[in-house]
Amino acid sequence: MPADVVTMDKLVSLCKRRGFVFPSSEIYGGISSSYDYGHYGVLLKNNIKAQWWRAMLQERDDVVALDSAIIQHPRTWEASGHLAGFTDPLIDCRTCKLRFRADHLGASACGRRPSRHPGETADCDLTEAREFNLMFQTTIGPVADEGSTVYLRPETAQGIFLNFRNYLQFSRRRPPFGIAQIGKSFRNEITPGNFIFRTREFEQMEMEFFVPPAEAQRWFEHWLEQRRNWYLRLGLRADHLRLRAHGPDELSHYSRATSDLEYLFPIGWQELEGIANRGDFDLTQHSRHSGQRLEYVDTVSGERYVPHVIEPAAGADRALLAFMVDAYDEDVIDGERRTVLRLHPLLAPVKVAVLPLVRKDGQPEVAERIHAQLRERFQTELDASGAIGRRYRRQDEIGTPWAVTVDHQTLEDETVTLRDRDSLAQERIAIAALADEIERRLRAPWRSPKGAVDDSSPST
Ligand code: ATP
Repeated sequence: MPADVVTMDKLVSLCKRRGFVFPSSEIYGGISSSYDYGHYGVLLKNNIKAQWWRAMLQERDDVVALDSAIIQHPRTWEASGHLAGFTDPLIDCRTCKLRFRADHLGASACGRRPSRHPGETADCDLTEAREFNLMFQTTIGPVADEGSTVYLRPETAQGIFLNFRNYLQFSRRRPPFGIAQIGKSFRNEITPGNFIFRTREFEQMEMEFFVPPAEAQRWFEHWLEQRRNWYLRLGLRADHLRLRAHGPDELSHYSRATSDLEYLFPIGWQELEGIANRGDFDLTQHSRHSGQRLEYVDTVSGERYVPHVIEPAAGADRALLAFMVDAYDEDVIDGERRTVLRLHPLLAPVKVAVLPLVRKDGQPEVAERIHAQLRERFQTELDASGAIGRRYRRQDEIGTPWAVTVDHQTLEDETVTLRDRDSLAQERIAIAALADEIERRLRAPWRSPKGAVDDSSPST
């Protein structure tokens, strides 16, 4: 595979320069691994989440939505196994004062001591691995005593299991059916880092699909395929995406089988989304701990069973990072270097920019009129400041797929040019036909041209 032009440093710099993602609390010196999303970052992340909802809700009949609370009854986490088992093995180097995840150093079991860590010197002194619980603890109410301890959820899934009965009773759902939710999760990660890849506060897009036990394997395979296709349809390059099945020693405490969708980030192949067969672990545990029956009963046949659960669990921030990495490109146009985000048009923060060629002769007024028309249907920007080439570059850098240019001919015949971010083709089109043409292009199948069109791209 040819080397990708993108590096994490270039991406971080673009994100800050163009207001996608800022380091959090910068005026106070920053706080480690916390990030704030700026204007274009919000638009991009919203588009990713909207596409996920679309695939779950609009394109299917068997998935419904939920938005559960972040703080749940503390017994939730006893039942789910998180209080006892949601830990990572932690190792400190007493000399360097650095902290590592033991499993990242090749020492998976607690009590084992790895032989080395990156950058190790002769006098390095490593502690043994000890288990560190990743849950954020806080207290509820004005008095902090033992009874008031609660946790910020480390995954959104448990809120779904706690509501399972409501969906049977009030929505009259019967397996197979799924409950989907998007929301913030919190993990006191030992080694956060690599920009927004691993943070302590992040957004998850999770769906629990409840099935008759005998159908679990079939549905597991179904969701592996669905989720892989979702990323491909939204433009991730197939040779940068792979499925990897977990080995038996890697499986989470609840899992019977898990496969990760991995993406080739600048830091190597890493998990983008996990798809797990959780069996009946969660419903059985919550049933035991709550004393409530959590099972499906067929009122006609009398058949009863605890459904098994297939879970595709994705991170919205990690998906955003993958889509940006995949889209980031550089090329040279007319001798000038350009940075361009080749995002799928459906994900692009801004769909269309309206640019008057000059700020006179009535062009700005026509541009304003077109902008007003187009913004009814698309996220649109009007930009009249600076040389036209510079304005194109600005839009390329935030991934705007199309630019409408108003020129002297527009005033004569009510046509404009429609410029394509990737092919750079400029087509003359009637103003009256613009919105429908943009809509048509937005819905058309799309493939990343990255690597295909830019033979001239610099190799650095
Ligand atoms: P990892 O092995 O990277 O720690 P995980 O297997 O613990 O991830 P899951 O519990 O399966 O992750 O969570 C599902 C998804 O949530 C992950 O695939 C990832 O996209 C996202 N995610 C998990 N932890 C974080 C985090 N600390 N920061 C950002 N996204 C995260």
